[in-house]
Amino acid sequence: MASSTSNSSSTVPLTPPNTLKRKQQHNVESLNVSPLKPKLLLHDLLQYEKLTPTSSPEKKSHKLTSSKNKRKLNGSIRRPIPNSTLSLDCYPMIKPNEKSHNKYLHCILNECQNIVVVAGAGISTYAGIPDFRSKNSGLYSKNKCNKSLMDLNMIYSNESMTLKFNELMVSLYSKSINAKITPFHQLLDKLAEQKRLKRVYTQNIDSLETKLPHVMETQINKTKGNYPILVQLHGNISETRCNKCNNIRKFDPNRLQTSENPKGRLIPSCLECEELESVRSIAGLRSKGVGTIRPTITLYNEVHNKGDAIADIINYDTKLKSIDLLIIVGTMLSIPHVKKLCQNMAHSLKNGRRRKGHVIFVSNEPPTQSILNTFKDTLDMIVIGDCQTLYNYID
Ligand SMILES: [Zn+2]
Repeated sequence: MASSTSNSSSTVPLTPPNTLKRKQQHNVESLNVSPLKPKLLLHDLLQYEKLTPTSSPEKKSHKLTSSKNKRKLNGSIRRPIPNSTLSLDCYPMIKPNEKSHNKYLHCILNECQNIVVVAGAGISTYAGIPDFRSKNSGLYSKNKCNKSLMDLNMIYSNESMTLKFNELMVSLYSKSINAKITPFHQLLDKLAEQKRLKRVYTQNIDSLETKLPHVMETQINKTKGNYPILVQLHGNISETRCNKCNNIRKFDPNRLQTSENPKGRLIPSCLECEELESVRSIAGLRSKGVGTIRPTITLYNEVHNKGDAIADIINYDTKLKSIDLLIIVGTMLSIPHVKKLCQNMAHSLKNGRRRKGHVIFVSNEPPTQSILNTFKDTLDMIVIGDCQTLYNYID
């Protein structure tokens, strides 16, 4: 379930990446309210009006709905050749030879009307939540373990593994509830407020997206097309679920045994089941047993309890012709079904008579050859650098 990432700033307290430090060093705390946006500088740099005369700030509308407008909109964007690279490391002083790519990125982020985002741990490391696979700062490295710590077949195989798993869960929960949303999360909220964000598929279990007022809904309504913006591909750590009665409760770290909390239980029982048992006992009815609980995350070798509903949403989005931008961000696509999701959606955006969608891959390390092979020439641009910088591209 874990997602890999490319972002390495994962220390607590928050350590802004270098690109943001340069621009926001005098008011880092305010990032969680309103990041600074050097709009004038960016506009000067982009000469945006020259590129898209129909979308100058005065004329611009984020609610363009007519197909006529959409055709104009797409026609105004100069598409780079596939796999073009833009480096954000020097932002806002973009290299001269990358200026047209910079304009393209600015255009699609502001002009596309139906955006799908597939996000990984790289969008949350800025908030102090470590990813799993990074060499020095990742959870596997710090816990001197590998993905077996998130494998259903392993974590309950012996007490030592269960204790390690509990400690990891408590640590992640604590970091998640205390984390503040990042500039990239704010970008998501802004797009959702503008009704341009169709879906966010997140591999992250930190639930940071649920802190965004325009994104937070996670309940999957089975009515076709009436799906929530946020799809948590691997569940979330803020709740627990009983394996018997499926009751959902807020995660209570005090119930889990860890080295700091020896009074907790290695595998806590479900309080609802226990209550039902005592009622049945008083009524003289036979015992039905008591379930156990653990965080509502999907582990390796486990079927997602909302898997069918999520598959419906993915199928729906993949066939949806109105999707005009796919952003793959903060993930190196190590999880096969996530890679497949991105591959299918990218392919869908590029194929068919009316398909002129845009696909960008954002990471602070270059995509592997395997990723390039997966997408072939469906990636319009590879954006190398800190994804938090993208907030500055939104007008
Ligand atoms: Zn139960």
